[in-house]
Amino acid sequence: MLWLTGGQVYDVERGAFRRADIGIDGERIREIGRAKMARADKTIDMAGAWLLPGFIDCHVHLTLPTDAGDPAAARDRSDAAVALFTAWAAERTLLGGITTARDVGGWNYVEMAVREAIEAGRAKGPRLFLAGKLLSITTGGVSYYPGMYDEANGPDEVRAAARRQIAAGADLIKVMATGAVLSPESEDARAIQFTLEELKAAVEIARDNFKHVAAHAHARAGIRNAVGAGVDSIEHGTFADSAVLKLMAKAGTFLVPTNCAFVQLLANPGIMATMPPHLRARMAGHHKTHTDAVRLAHRLGVPIAMGTDVGTPGNHHGENTVEIALMVEEAGMTPVQAIHCATANPAKLLRQENNLGGIDAGKYADIVACAKNPLRDIREVTRIAFVMKGGRVYKNELATLPAARKRKPS
Ligand SMILES: [Zn+2]
Repeated sequence: MLWLTGGQVYDVERGAFRRADIGIDGERIREIGRAKMARADKTIDMAGAWLLPGFIDCHVHLTLPTDAGDPAAARDRSDAAVALFTAWAAERTLLGGITTARDVGGWNYVEMAVREAIEAGRAKGPRLFLAGKLLSITTGGVSYYPGMYDEANGPDEVRAAARRQIAAGADLIKVMATGAVLSPESEDARAIQFTLEELKAAVEIARDNFKHVAAHAHARAGIRNAVGAGVDSIEHGTFADSAVLKLMAKAGTFLVPTNCAFVQLLANPGIMATMPPHLRARMAGHHKTHTDAVRLAHRLGVPIAMGTDVGTPGNHHGENTVEIALMVEEAGMTPVQAIHCATANPAKLLRQENNLGGIDAGKYADIVACAKNPLRDIREVTRIAFVMKGGRVYKNELATLPAARKRKPS
């Protein structure tokens, strides 16, 4: 057994820390309490550290670069270049405290190969739940992201496209219920894309194959269609009003807000300057509308699962946990609620509540830690100093941090 000793351990259900040791057997947590050490056991001293379940990001694009304002700049990369980039992005993501990520739009299935390398121990990265290519009607957005889109028009083509993703190794199906914000001028985020019938076709194939469905939806009518079709999560939800949010709350449909996509970009004037003017106007113009919708969703009891849209311009791989702080600062949550939305709720959305989302006996030993109490200052989650995934330590900078050192006997 490996023991993490002397740390403050977070209980997601109670929303509180307590001092405890964690016993880890292989990939999983065996027990929590006081260490009962056997001679062969190993220990890692966590004194002074604040331990949380590894965070789960339900909306990433690991294959997309983030340093150019013009999304079209990334469209002509070779698959080999994309693979190398994706492996780097996956490692950054893990070291930032994200031990599980759901990718909702990859690039020519390159991310599947990266997942294989991670699982075989040849690359470092989070546990990955992958959508493969996203399903979309024929639209201008395809020209920005040719490796990401699988075009399908009409229910039969949607069924075939959903089957293609599953055959390639997808864990979920991603559908475009409305237009995108980061798209060419010909595409409108308020426009309906897949019809109700097409969305139902995607849900049918997903359900038949024990997969779930994530629906990109900004416009109200698109959200209503997606909820009516039975999708599991609404991505973004920018123009949601109380009527559709109440529908989501009643159906138990998750909202994956992606506040980061706006905030990280707007904080970066250098990248904004390289952006096509219509995108700059859209991102600046929709930010407050989106924040208000997320705030309202939280108030109306819509289940929320953390998602960042990392991979969009300025929204960098590895900075994902900024989203947790934004749920407090922008969406009006308490730190306890925000942490719940980044751990237990995503585990439920991924149907992994027995494996992920809490520091509990039987679950995977996916544990992160910071040097100060994140319930006092939620920004602490953006300074993750310790990362363990499946019982293996990928990062441990606790000893070099002043706050952790201070607490140790001198
Ligand atoms: Zn996205």
